[in-house]
Amino acid sequence: MKKYIAALDQGTTSSRTILFDRKGQIVAKAMQEFPQVYPKPGWVEHDPRDIVESQIESFRKALLAGGISLQDICAIGVANQRETVVVWDRFTGKPVYNAIVWQCRRTSAICERIKEKHAEMIYQRTGLPVDAYFSASKIQWILDNVPFARRRAEKGDLFFGTIDTYLIWRLTGGKTFATDYSNASRTMLFNIHTLQWDEELCALFNVPRGMLPKVMPSGADYGKTDPSILGAEIPICAAVGDQQSALFGQLCVKPGDVKNTYGTGCFLLMNTGDQPICSQNGLITTLTASLKKPDYALEGSVFVAGAVVQWLRDGLGFLSTAAESEALALSVEDTDGVSVVPAFVGLGAPHWDSECRGLISGITRGTTRAHIVRAALESVALQTFDVVHAMEQDLHVNISRLCVDGGASANQFLMQFQADILGAEVLRPKVMETTALGAAYLAGLYCGYFSSLEELCGNVGQATVFFPHMEEAFRAEKLRRWEEALNRTMYRTEL
Ligand code: ADP
Repeated sequence: MKKYIAALDQGTTSSRTILFDRKGQIVAKAMQEFPQVYPKPGWVEHDPRDIVESQIESFRKALLAGGISLQDICAIGVANQRETVVVWDRFTGKPVYNAIVWQCRRTSAICERIKEKHAEMIYQRTGLPVDAYFSASKIQWILDNVPFARRRAEKGDLFFGTIDTYLIWRLTGGKTFATDYSNASRTMLFNIHTLQWDEELCALFNVPRGMLPKVMPSGADYGKTDPSILGAEIPICAAVGDQQSALFGQLCVKPGDVKNTYGTGCFLLMNTGDQPICSQNGLITTLTASLKKPDYALEGSVFVAGAVVQWLRDGLGFLSTAAESEALALSVEDTDGVSVVPAFVGLGAPHWDSECRGLISGITRGTTRAHIVRAALESVALQTFDVVHAMEQDLHVNISRLCVDGGASANQFLMQFQADILGAEVLRPKVMETTALGAAYLAGLYCGYFSSLEELCGNVGQATVFFPHMEEAFRAEKLRRWEEALNRTMYRTEL
């Protein structure tokens, strides 16, 4: 019996491989960064070759780190950065252009035009607001701007894929051209109710239907790796968007289960079961990871979370490591009235203000870097509070437990403040690499390495729980100040 499942976690700035054992524990991991390409302000690209090569390199390094042989890998699961677009020649395998990354804003004008007439119809079918963030307008841009691309696409020579599709196509030597429901639901071409590509949306974004991959459940048969690429034939048994993977990795598989990932940004997802919920509060409806028909989730994204700590470190020089923020924040009793709103690129859910920019308010002569660091960490939890509150309003429920993960969830001060400000329990699992874990669970369940969800639940181990204990008056005052700082951030005068 083979011993391990390999999760390939293809992220925005790095490709990682984590090997898990039968208990869902990490036995080895490796990471390989790759270059970010910024051709113009607001444009973000990756070279698709870098994505594939860095992923293969991290796989090799993980095997080496664990002293594990290829023969011991039972199956592969892929979790990936979502929405990013690759268009390539199906015969030569050559991408016609760099991958256009989810962060890239080049198609804002296309989206503004489409929004005017079609926003409601698109939201009803895809669960998404019309925005450059999603894949559709990026595919359109490539077909309209790369010489001969449209003609080649119409002839049937080009394929489109999100990163899962392209990576799997490459790893299988061009044999598998497929994606999963969770990734398809971020393209803005997929009807989340019929679970089909939507002909009308394809026509609206001018994307030939023949370019689109087959859509399957996240845990499914995605073919075998080509021996000339990884050195052996290994079954690929899962493909899943990173945030849905983390939701599954946290075993949030029942309606009402919620998780929040604290990475560069924050991504809060709630499983809403077989009911797609229409948000009145700026949240997105999306499809979850599954081994059969997917469920629905409500999702809210905060653009800047852990990234504010990076800014304190690299931009202001207040810290030498991100982890230092915790001790510094705890070196003062409170922020002493200082608020930080890290709206570096505007604000995401639930405010959706792409024009506003950040601020620090309430500073006095007595303000020190410790107050500012503390206020910055609090801003991560306060932004999360706003998304949780929006979710509670959409669903008419009270969220009393939040499962957390991601790099910044290592910060004890932040997690305690999160519990306090939400008035809810915050649960941090033992294995914080939940994105990779979700892909490993899905692949392992599909190929029979894991027997059932119950087995996985039994393996999880003791989570760290943060209980709320902030005084109500103090909490109300914190929220009032935050609201005031947010209003100032979004306030504009006509010049
Ligand atoms: P991503 O997957 O988006 O790259 P990660 O989950 O790896 O993000 O988390 C990295 C982010 O978390 C960085 O923005 C970093 O500043 C922040 N971070 C890491 N450790 C801490 C910490 N102890 N306290 C606060 N922030 C942290």
